[in-house]
Amino acid sequence: MNTTTSAPPPKLLWQREPADWNARPCLGTPIELWFGPEDGRRESPEEAAAREEEAKDLCAWCPVVEFCLETELALSPFDQHGIRAGLTADERRALIRRRARRSGRATRTEAVA
Ligand code: SF4
Repeated sequence: MNTTTSAPPPKLLWQREPADWNARPCLGTPIELWFGPEDGRRESPEEAAAREEEAKDLCAWCPVVEFCLETELALSPFDQHGIRAGLTADERRALIRRRARRSGRATRTEAVA
């Protein structure tokens, strides 16, 4: 198991939100749409797929999707949850791994794949 470093530096976490941040379509939507049931209930694969597709459809026309994505990718692979920036947590982890490989840095994301 590779246990060397981790994600890119979280510099974007402290960046000011873009001007159209309040126009993001996820604003005011149920949290369950993005992260699944909160009551401990397990979704069926079909329910999860339908929910994720609905969330991704909202992200598809989001004016701040790039900012959202970079903010999420600044987090650790272990801190990826739900649909954000039109991607699942697994899809964002894969993107973090690809970026880390591209930049020549070792990651420990293989352990969470
Ligand atoms: S891209 Fe990010 S900010 Fe925009 S709708 Fe999706 S989760 Fe919300």
